[in-house]
Formats: sequence, C-alpha cells, structure tokens
Amino acid sequence: MSVRGLTVRFAGLTALDAVDLTVLPGTVHALIGPNGAGKSTTFNVLTGVYRATGGSVRHGDRELTGLPPHRIAEQGIARTFQNLALPAGTTVADTLLLGRHRLTRAGFLASGLRLPSATQEERRHRERVREIAAFVGLERQLDTPTGALPYGQRKLTELARALCLEPGLLLLDEPVAGMTSEERRRTASVIAGIRDSLGISILLVEHDMGVVMRIADTVTVLDFGRLIADGAPHDVQNDPAVLRAYLGE
Ligand code: ADP
Ligand code: MG
Repeated sequence: MSVRGLTVRFAGLTALDAVDLTVLPGTVHALIGPNGAGKSTTFNVLTGVYRATGGSVRHGDRELTGLPPHRIAEQGIARTFQNLALPAGTTVADTLLLGRHRLTRAGFLASGLRLPSATQEERRHRERVREIAAFVGLERQLDTPTGALPYGQRKLTELARALCLEPGLLLLDEPVAGMTSEERRRTASVIAGIRDSLGISILLVEHDMGVVMRIADTVTVLDFGRLIADGAPHDVQNDPAVLRAYLGE
C-alpha cells in the first residue's frame, strides 16, 4: 500500500498533514505517535470511513482514494477496531462464518435453498473457519458465544474475523490494548505468524512499544498529524524528534 501526501482537515483542525507511508508486502508496519497524532484518522481514511482532503492511496496498481468502505474491503483490505465490535450472543464459529460473508454472498443465499453445491461450499467455509480459529488459538472456543469469552479471546476473535476475509493487507488498531501481559505475548506471536505463515501485510497502530519493537519491520511516527520519523524500529526509537514528541516538549 502506498500513501502519498495524505491530508485530512476537520473544521479548522489539520488531523493529517501531507503524510507519506509505504507498507511493503509481507511486512509488519507500525504506526505510532502520542494521543491525537492522527493514527485512527489514517486508518479511517485508508478504509474509506473518512474522505481525505488531499493526497492519494494506492494498493498495488489500484487507486483507492475516495472509494467507499465496501469497495476497499473488496480490494483485500481488512481491519479491526480500537474498540471491540462483536455480537455478544453469537458463537465464535458463527461470527467467523459471517466474517466470510463477502466471499459467499451467493453461497449463503443458495444454502438457504439447500442446494447441494451450497452445502458443499458451506462445509468448505466451516473447515476454513476451524483452520483460522486454530491459527489464532481459539479452536476450543468455536461453540462459545463471544460475550462469554475473556477480553483477550474476544480481541482474538475480532482478529480471526478479519482473517476470514482472506485479506492481502490487515489494519490492526491497538490489537493488544487491555490485554494481560500473557495475552499480549501470545497475540504478538499470532500477528508475526500472520505475516510469516500467511504472507499477509500488516499496518499496526499500537501503544505497547514492547510489541512494536518485537514484531515491526518498519515504524512510522506521527505527531500532530505530521510524519516525524520513519524507519527501522531501533533507529526510530532513538530518534531525538520521537523522544521529544513522547516527552511532550
Ligand atoms: P490518534 O488515533 O492518533 O490518537 P486521531 O486520529 O483519533 O488520533 O485524532 C487526530 C486528531 O483529529 C485529534 O485532534 C482528534 O480530535 C481529531 N479528530 C479525529 N476524528 C475527528 C472527527 N471525526 N471530527 C473532528 N475531529 C476529529
Ligand atoms: Mg486512536
């Protein structure tokens, strides 16, 4: 994904000011910065929720600038939200099956009519849902309503649901926020595994620097909507402009 000169203004406030960002295939790219830096705004523009005031977003050779959210999702870009958005009474298995809806609109209709081809497709989807649940470590929770899961497993369910879209690029907004340290460790390895085993590129907004330093290949730092540093995690961590932004000088 290639973002050039991305600018977003809200009545008088410049939330993003000419930001450039390139997410290379098969990498974890972290987007960090103090509160209000523009991280969630970046996600909202990349997923079509907000419209950019200026600049362009491309994915491969596709121009995404100005497309609505469902058209961007069709380009293989999936996201999770900073705050959980799961139906509490639905089991993990059904949540993930619904997550495959984009791939199967026709399939679900046909399965309602009990066509043989549809039940076969339905079986394939259930099989894939089991694989994805196992990948994130939720194979034993498939029949549990998401509302009955501990917080960390609900966050993993949301991650698994995004994987059900078989995305090429995954946008994760604070995936380990609110987790215990054990859950953070596990989720960090799941995210690294999504890159290493599934070959999916990841753009990651995360406040936990331990997680960022451990799994990011590249880090971009925003402050007041401006890009202030960009590079390998350890170079960025020692960048004087980054230290100043975090110390609030
Ligand atoms: P971050 O996620 O890095 O904490 P945000 O992207 O949420 O920061 O916010 C960046 C700036 O844009 C903040 O000053 C925030 O108040 C402002 N902002 C975000 N969304 C809106 C909106 N929908 N309307 C007006 N201002 C907004
Ligand atoms: Mg945010």
